Order: sequence, then C-alpha cells, then structure tokens
Amino acid sequence: MGEFDLIRRFFSRPVTRAVLGGGDDCALIAPNPDCDLAISSDMLVAGRHFLVETDAARLGWKSLAVNLSDLAACSARPLACTLALALPAVREDWLAAFAAGLYDCADRYDCELIGGDTTRGPLTISISVFGEVPRGSAIRRSGASPGDSIWVSGLLGQATAGLKLAQGQLELPEDAARAALAALERPVPRVELGIALRGLASAMIDVSDGLAADLGHILFASHAGAVLDVDALPRFAGMELLASDEQLTCLLTGGDDYELCFTSRPDHDARVFAAARGAGVPVTRIGRINADSGLKLVGGDQREFALPPGFSLKGFDHFG
Ligand code: ADP
Ligand code: MG
Repeated sequence: MGEFDLIRRFFSRPVTRAVLGGGDDCALIAPNPDCDLAISSDMLVAGRHFLVETDAARLGWKSLAVNLSDLAACSARPLACTLALALPAVREDWLAAFAAGLYDCADRYDCELIGGDTTRGPLTISISVFGEVPRGSAIRRSGASPGDSIWVSGLLGQATAGLKLAQGQLELPEDAARAALAALERPVPRVELGIALRGLASAMIDVSDGLAADLGHILFASHAGAVLDVDALPRFAGMELLASDEQLTCLLTGGDDYELCFTSRPDHDARVFAAARGAGVPVTRIGRINADSGLKLVGGDQREFALPPGFSLKGFDHFG
C-alpha cells in the first residue's frame, strides 16, 4: 500500500464542519468571527511517550485526547485536528485500529480530522488541534492571585499507577487495575469542564507532567506561590497499596493524568462546584494561592511535608 492509498483508506473520512478537509494542499476551517483561534500541538514518540506494545486503538484515542486536553486548559472548544504520522512500516491491522481510536475521540469531542502528513520513520504521532474560544476569554496560566482557591479535576497519580502496572512493578485488584490502565491509555480530556470554567477560573493548566510541576507553571506565570493541603489531594482506589512515601510522590509528580488544575477567586467556590457538576466531572479544592514564593505542602492538621525525593523545586526558584 502506498502513501496515498494509506491516507485515503484510513484518514480521509468526509468532513462536515470544515470548509475543506484533506486532499488539497491546505484544509480550510472558518472559526467564528467573534472567537480567538486556539492552537496546540503534541507529539508522541514510541518508547518515550508510550510503550510500543500499546493497543493501537487506545493509542489513537490518547494521541488526540492529550491535544484536546490543551484546548480544555485554555477553555477552548475543539474544531479540527491534523495528524502527522511517521511509520516504520505499513501494518494495515495496526492502522485500522489506530484510526478507529482516533476517530472515536474525534467524534466524541466534535473535532474533525482535516489533514496531516505521512512519512516513513520511527513510530511518531504528531497532532495539532484547533479550537475556538470567545475573544479574550481564553484562560491563561498567568491569572492566579493571592487568596485564590486551587482546584484539580478527577484523580491524581492514576496514570502513573497504570504505567507501573503495565511494566509489572505494581499489582492492583481487578477493578482498580482496569481503572489505572484506562487512565494511562485512554485519558478523558476535560473539554466540557474547561468550557464551563470560562469567566470562573483565573488560571488553568492541564496536568501532563505532574501536579507540582504543572501548578508550578501557573505559579511562575502568575508570580505567586501556593500552599497545598496534602490530605485533600484526590486519591484513586488502590493508591493505599503503594508504599506511603510513594503515595505523595505519585500524587504530586505522577504525569499523564490530563486533569485540569485551575484557580478561582475564593468567593466563587460554590459556582465552581456547580460548573463541575454541570460538566459531570468531580473537582477537589486542594489549596490556596499566596503571595510568597514556592510551593508549601501541609497536612490537614497543619503539619508540613517535604517535597518528594528527587523532585526539583528549580522551577519555583525563579520566585525565590
Ligand atoms: P502535500 O504534499 O501537499 O503536503 P501530502 O501529499 O503530504 O500533501 O498529503 C496529501 C493530503 O493528504 C493532504 O491534504 C494532507 O492533509 C492529507 N494527509 C496526509 N497525511 C495525512 C494523515 N496522516 N491524516 C490525515 N490526512 C493526511
Ligand atoms: Mg506532505
């Protein structure tokens, strides 16, 4: 099968919303004139971002989902995506499953595949997404103020547990194992929540590198610090089976969760809970922005915690 047959066969479903889909030199989309166009790209490299033996359909889903998570973090509504694919060889069964997973995610979040590029090379999946957000209302990392509540959606560290499980470093009961693997391989981008938080969240980011690092980006961009309540961090079922020092590391530095971490004015707490309920996503208030520098961890009884071993606070030194 040649390059063009491959594209025609697997990645050329007709578009309905775009002005022009794949097949020409450019695709065309017509964003709402009252909106800003939100654009993001994420690349997944085999062996670095995913295990080579990952189920192809789940990989197709995840490749788009991690990009949609970036749109969600800016409160943008997905419009379209492009797919640049490097393949070591054409494996039709793999491609069919990958395309099915990708289109599954695209259909769920109304994000049309409008083009891409296909080449031979080490397995690499590079997706760009395009979304729209009412002019001026994208939620940035820089908007947090002292006193703001800090929130996170869903559960933390579950994808890390899934990875340990896949690598045979952890055992979990059946239900917990299934949930952890799904968190790793089929993350749910918080698109509806991101949109529901328009006008409510003061700053937002998606948790791809771990809560501490990603909250750190908000703190850096907002010139602020934070106190996190360790006991409030949302734990997944089965986390208690990790060694107790590993639990905190997992919660704070576990990557690949694709939850939203955001801040909001303290008098907006009730509105945040209502928006999250409307979006069907649980949110947890985990701390508060302050005017100090750095990140401080306290327990419910105000005892202080050290940051997990191996976790560098370098990112926060910029304020210190
Ligand atoms: P060009 O040479 O003009 O860059 P290509 O030959 O690379 O175009 O691609 C032909 C058409 O197929 C283009 O419209 C492109 O957007 C589309 N396309 C290529 N690869 C993919 C892919 N992996 N998924 C979706 N569309 C693709
Ligand atoms: Mg090309």
